Amino acid sequence: MRKLPQDRQEFVGAPQPIREDGAGATDPGPRDVLRDMQNPDLLVPPPTDAGTVPNLKFSFSDTHMRLEHGGWSREVTERELPIATTLSGVNMRLTPGGVRELHWHKQAEWSFMIYGRARITAVDQDGRNFIADVGVGDLWYFPPGVPHSIQGLEEGCEFLLVFDDGKFSENDTFTISDWFAHTPKDVLAANFGVRESAFAHIPSKQVYMYQAKVPGAIATQQIMSPYGTVPKSFMHRLLAQQPSRTPGGSVRIVDSSNFPISTAIAAALVEIKPGGMREMHWHPNNDEWQYYLSGQGRMTAFAADGTARTFDYRAGDVGYVPFAFGHYIQNTGEQTLWFLEMFKSDRFADISLNQWMALTPRELVQDTLRVGPELMNALRKEKWPVVKYSSQ
Ligand code: MN
Ligand code: MN
Repeated sequence: MRKLPQDRQEFVGAPQPIREDGAGATDPGPRDVLRDMQNPDLLVPPPTDAGTVPNLKFSFSDTHMRLEHGGWSREVTERELPIATTLSGVNMRLTPGGVRELHWHKQAEWSFMIYGRARITAVDQDGRNFIADVGVGDLWYFPPGVPHSIQGLEEGCEFLLVFDDGKFSENDTFTISDWFAHTPKDVLAANFGVRESAFAHIPSKQVYMYQAKVPGAIATQQIMSPYGTVPKSFMHRLLAQQPSRTPGGSVRIVDSSNFPISTAIAAALVEIKPGGMREMHWHPNNDEWQYYLSGQGRMTAFAADGTARTFDYRAGDVGYVPFAFGHYIQNTGEQTLWFLEMFKSDRFADISLNQWMALTPRELVQDTLRVGPELMNALRKEKWPVVKYSSQ
């Protein structure tokens, strides 16, 4: 038999699924060495990992790219990451002038601008309208059912959309062109009080996204509603918010307490410097949906009953932590790690392992864990503002 090609060739320096104590064996292939190198903790899980914990990672690089004139979109939903039932996410790019057409959906939409600028519009159920230009680090939130649009400005844009339903699909929204295309023209004529010929050139099917000219200054597009503008802004400048800082990084928390319209989704923008970590904690309210913006990190999810699983993440990945699972996030790279954590909740909430122990009778902690004064004296009654520094 002929020697198998490529796959059987050992890459010099390729990592092998062998633990320090000798457990495991080489992988002669077939194998994807580049992916193995990106997932050192899947290839060689720490010995503390145990049991069967569901997959908690999906990369946008492994999703279908919907390419349109005017931009593209791709999504990570329950279909890609079955455990992620509470939220789903869409990564979208719009060219200069590119339009995500007028549409609405059953789910709330929360968004973070990653690159460039866009103009967003919406009208609520009381005829109050909204228009704003958003840039890097800005958020927007559209309540369920409220119609809206997004258009790239001069530099185009890329953003992350998050919806409060793991089953949401960006390919299943109510679009204005789709409705027109599926309404008898005599009905359209009657509805608007015009002749049927007014609809002679409407699109025959859903448009979804299209290339248009970059719009003029916002003042040139403003329509004055007799009912005014929306009482709670649909936009929030997250990066303008003063972060909580520690030597290990920073965090900006945004929920309905400082972005009042955002009643369905709470979030934190977290920065972890090299050598830093997001301390061990869990969330008492709901699952966590993560999006990694830059750098690389690792997380172990503790799933109770002797089970735990460690994952490696990098820019463009989605991570997920089921409700109440203990976890941490360590920066494992040379670069600063930035990521977003989102929750289907009106508020952000987390419980610090360290603080819990510090505020509990000492005997209970010491006798359970068989630890001494070194640890007990290091406990902090004040919670780390999310990110602590650890010298490695
Ligand atoms: Mn939308
Ligand atoms: Mn968390």
